[in-house]
Amino acid sequence: MNSIPRLRFAHLPTPVEHLPRLSAVLGGPKLLIKRDDQTGLALGGNKTRKLEFLVAEAQANGARTLVSAGALQSNHCRQTAAVAAKYGLECILVLNGASPLVPTGNYLLDHLFGAQVVLVTERADRDRVFKETFDQAWADGKRPYLVPYGGSSPTGALGYAFAVQEFLSQGFHADWMVFGTSSGGTQAGLVLGQRVFGYTGKVLGISIDESQAWLKTHVSALAAEASERLGERIEFGPQDVLATDAYCAAGYGVLTNLEREAVRLFAKHEGILLDPVYTGRAAGGMIDLIRTGFFKQEETILFWNTGGQPALFAEKYQAHLLE
Ligand SMILES: *Cc1c(COP(=O)(O)O)cnc(C)c1O
Repeated sequence: MNSIPRLRFAHLPTPVEHLPRLSAVLGGPKLLIKRDDQTGLALGGNKTRKLEFLVAEAQANGARTLVSAGALQSNHCRQTAAVAAKYGLECILVLNGASPLVPTGNYLLDHLFGAQVVLVTERADRDRVFKETFDQAWADGKRPYLVPYGGSSPTGALGYAFAVQEFLSQGFHADWMVFGTSSGGTQAGLVLGQRVFGYTGKVLGISIDESQAWLKTHVSALAAEASERLGERIEFGPQDVLATDAYCAAGYGVLTNLEREAVRLFAKHEGILLDPVYTGRAAGGMIDLIRTGFFKQEETILFWNTGGQPALFAEKYQAHLLE
């Protein structure tokens, strides 16, 4: 397993902390938090673990440019831009959204890291422009490496397989791991790590934007493919993936009372920051599941704080967090 190309820039292991005050306020099970918002690269987040493997692969391929895509406030793109700066690579980002009056949040940081940004107004055009941008970079001799949406290739997913090993080595017990899931790489890695490293609890993804059916199919396929990089293929099926899409009806990046309440509860009772798009929604879902008795009172839940805090300061969200 040690022969998989990997760079080491994340600050690992990330801490595990107890959330006793939040637990008491919710009258619920014991809560732990895994501080993957503290992975150390440019304000942290879950993409850093994936990028340790992705950038190693890019370098092995002789790449000189990282090309990726996402929403205007993409945390993934911000971390990709930062790692490109760190390793002297060019970075081109295709971002969808309305051109902001003032660059804020992740979008501001992308520029500080020197990324070249291609804006597309319509999300529907993003796939096409992403591909065109990549092809153009090839034609221009930039030796691009394509970092997929969310860094969720089999290579990227490995970051979260090893994150399970890391958690198990930290000496805590958790019956559940709960986190926000979107492009599926985090969940695929956790599901793979669960199997490979023998985590006996359950891994529950709270969907940010995708359907449960899509996540079960996509995450299991990604986990199986990622397993090949560890040695031999392990089969995963939809039944191996636990995900709920009960909390994403409002749509990607739409702030509702669910996210607002979660962000405020974590801040007010634990001094911990969540973000409006991902961890706010995931924690909101987890809080609802606690209130409706989904978890047993004697169980312990580990919430992965996957980062995203720069979006708190994005033009699109900052004015609406206190509503
Ligand atoms: C990207 C992201 C996620 C979702 O991870 P995936 O691997 O895309 O499913 C969760 N939280 C934050 C803060 C993110 O930026």
